[in-house]
Amino acid sequence: MIGTDQTSVIEREDLQSLFDVVIARGYVPVGPTVRDGAIVFDEVCRVEDLPGGWTEDQDAGSYRLKRRHDTALFGYNNGPHSWKKYLFPPRAKLWEAVKTENNGLTVREAEDTKRPFAFIGVRSCDLHALQVQDAVFMNPKHPDPLYAGRRGKALVIVVNCGQAAKTCFCTSMNTGPRAEGGYDLALTEILDGDDHYFIAEPGSPDGYSLLAGIPHREADSADVLAAQECTKRAAEQIGRKIEISDVKDLLYRNYDNERWDALERRCLTCANCTMACPTCFCSKVEDVTDLTGGHAERWREWDSCFTMDFSYIHGGSVRPTTRSRYRQWLIHKLATWLDQFGMSGCVGCGRCITWCPVGIDLTEEVRLIRASEKDKEADDG
Ligand code: SF4
Ligand code: SF4
Repeated sequence: MIGTDQTSVIEREDLQSLFDVVIARGYVPVGPTVRDGAIVFDEVCRVEDLPGGWTEDQDAGSYRLKRRHDTALFGYNNGPHSWKKYLFPPRAKLWEAVKTENNGLTVREAEDTKRPFAFIGVRSCDLHALQVQDAVFMNPKHPDPLYAGRRGKALVIVVNCGQAAKTCFCTSMNTGPRAEGGYDLALTEILDGDDHYFIAEPGSPDGYSLLAGIPHREADSADVLAAQECTKRAAEQIGRKIEISDVKDLLYRNYDNERWDALERRCLTCANCTMACPTCFCSKVEDVTDLTGGHAERWREWDSCFTMDFSYIHGGSVRPTTRSRYRQWLIHKLATWLDQFGMSGCVGCGRCITWCPVGIDLTEEVRLIRASEKDKEADDG
């Protein structure tokens, strides 16, 4: 927690040490960088790889990079990538089988050869998204070996948000903008005139050990206040909202709401929302063989509830219409996920709003469903 005697200050010019220590300890550092007109996640080994001086304008269906008026390294909000691509890769081999002599068969489970990841620049909403995926992939009864292996070894370095995008609504979902735990190290970036530094809060033994390897000084009360002001500013910028206290019952009551028909006319079923979402976990498996039939492999790939094939059961898809597929997605995110996992499937990151090519906004859809209920009550009353 901020303000403890372990809260420290790392000067901007010492931030490279964070990368150096992480690399020296055998981690692959991954974090934000500018590529193809967006801020994406990739391997980053130097402070210069970060999106220094860049930010973006984003809204429903639009995203544009633009220059900042300062040299902030983390002065942006969520881009199209999320951390799930490292823990739950878009395509991963599960096992392979090789024919041996006398019609024998050897089956080998795929080995994960990746070194542990250090995630640098995790936002609070995405930290919650990791916890949502943990509930899916690290269920004690059926843990996913690839995800559980990578997650268990990963180092999580948060950077608290000092600004919000127009699409953010973490304050509705109680997931941000300040991370309150579940990280190894949390940083808050402060720019104040010529001063540029990071307030650092270790949150685990690995985080304390990491901080010990980086030049730092103890934070004073002014530093702590600056960090609090930073995330307060981000919270005040948030414009989108979902009333979540009764959203589960609201959606269960509105299975036949006419709003789903309006979505039928707009949604392209392109599945962008599910690919960009940090919590969506649907996948399919594909078996491939070589031409001789002596070698077969099973691969897992991301899939989406927006595809027809995803709900194909003998004889056809059980969700043949766009209306039924959007409804399945939204009700799963905000309602049935609560029954299934005891938590919401949405962390308010806003990616599905930005990356929907027709700008469908789930906060707006929930608001309109709620409004239609009120209108009906007024008509009936
Ligand atoms: S549903 Fe949308 S806002 Fe919610 S976590 Fe997924 S991408 Fe983010
Ligand atoms: S809601 Fe938007 S992003 Fe999602 S499938 Fe429909 S058109 Fe694509």
